[in-house]
Amino acid sequence: MAKRILSFFGSHAPPGGRRWWVALIPAAIVVYLFGTTVYVQSQSTYYRVELRGETLGYVAGQQTVGDAVAQAERDASNQFGFPVRLATPPSVEQIVTHDRYPTLSQDALAERLRAAGDFLTRATVLVVDGQEVAALPSKEAAQSVLDELKARYVRELESRAGKGKLDVRRVTIRQKVEFQERDNVPVDQIKDAVQVLAMLAAGKEEEKVHVVREGESPWTIASANGLTVDQLLAANPDVDPERLQPGQELRLNVPEQWISFESEELLVVTERVPFATRREYDDDLDAGKQRVKQEGEYGEKVITYAIKRRDGRIVEQEKVQEEVTRQPVDRIVVIGTRPVAGVSTGRFIWPLRGRITSNYGPRWGSMHTGIDIDGVTGQAVRAADGGTVVSAGWAGGYGYAVQIRHQGGLYTYYAHMSRIAVRVGEGVAQGEVIGYVGSTGRSTGSHLHFEVRRCPSPGCAVSPWPHLP
Ligand SMILES: [Zn+2]
Repeated sequence: MAKRILSFFGSHAPPGGRRWWVALIPAAIVVYLFGTTVYVQSQSTYYRVELRGETLGYVAGQQTVGDAVAQAERDASNQFGFPVRLATPPSVEQIVTHDRYPTLSQDALAERLRAAGDFLTRATVLVVDGQEVAALPSKEAAQSVLDELKARYVRELESRAGKGKLDVRRVTIRQKVEFQERDNVPVDQIKDAVQVLAMLAAGKEEEKVHVVREGESPWTIASANGLTVDQLLAANPDVDPERLQPGQELRLNVPEQWISFESEELLVVTERVPFATRREYDDDLDAGKQRVKQEGEYGEKVITYAIKRRDGRIVEQEKVQEEVTRQPVDRIVVIGTRPVAGVSTGRFIWPLRGRITSNYGPRWGSMHTGIDIDGVTGQAVRAADGGTVVSAGWAGGYGYAVQIRHQGGLYTYYAHMSRIAVRVGEGVAQGEVIGYVGSTGRSTGSHLHFEVRRCPSPGCAVSPWPHLP
């Protein structure tokens, strides 16, 4: 400053006499004082604040910068919901200048730092089988995600239990899950629990395509790839499952989960035990009539299953206990057997008592379509059940023969008789005499040839044994 004054005087001092410039001294003093004042007022100190090469503004005091950084970190922590700090501190440069700069308040600088800054935090990284899945703000947040996933899994199991009582004994995560604490994780990599939960619940999508081969169906393709047909069709909504062509491409969206669960449960279900129907016969009740002597009642049993699942799919199911808690009560139906003309009882009697001389089945290279019952010519032949006579007369090799249609769809056929005692269209009662033993037609001795048929023709003959008492 002094040098500058001297040069001022030096440059303006005219050469020559001494007395005239003495008069200028007061003016010079005024100029000096004035000039100094102006000079002192124009020199100011500022601090320029920069963040990654970008000027945020100027502050008057260095302390303001530190305070603003602290405030910005506080504000950002509140905004994110977890403690953060600036990735890089702002650089500060001191400037002494005649120029005037607008300065920022601490609040204003803090706001600019918060808006422009990159923030870091301490995070918990969820690592599944060595793979980093997500970074969360805290171990508690990471744990809450796993807890909620597990709770959802259990709720899903419970919703499938239906009326059964479910006791989920154990739910475990099949992979190795770790929480790794890390410092200095950029906040834009942090996800909150809700986001991570949504991501994990959605599962990993893996595009897999199957090319249809000759002879394959949706069912064989689905089962070969661990899918249900519904899952396969859901992944290929535009495909007609009835018209698969070799070479056609099908998407196999195998939904692989980030977190895979294994569970053990006990499922207790109550099931009805069906009742049996028992028949009783009553000679005092007309054929064709029946009455219920006792109504049936369902019983009840409690079954306990031990079930193992993987991601909801049953991999093992075992019945560990079954207890009948209430016995069923039989339904008892009384069926009338008192013979009534034209009415079937549903239960055959023997048309003739005697030795079986030839059984139903293959005989001499052909089929013997009935049984032969030994008898003496003239012995009475009785209707095996009540019904309507549909044929009666000479029938070639069968000789004199009678056929009866019974209610319930069966027919009985009586052959080689010496004489017939009924007419076509007549209703006969069970046990009624319909003819007499003989040896007419292709026969080698007196006997009764007896058939049971499902239709009137000989080709409909069935074994009589299940129908005879
Ligand atoms: Zn025969």
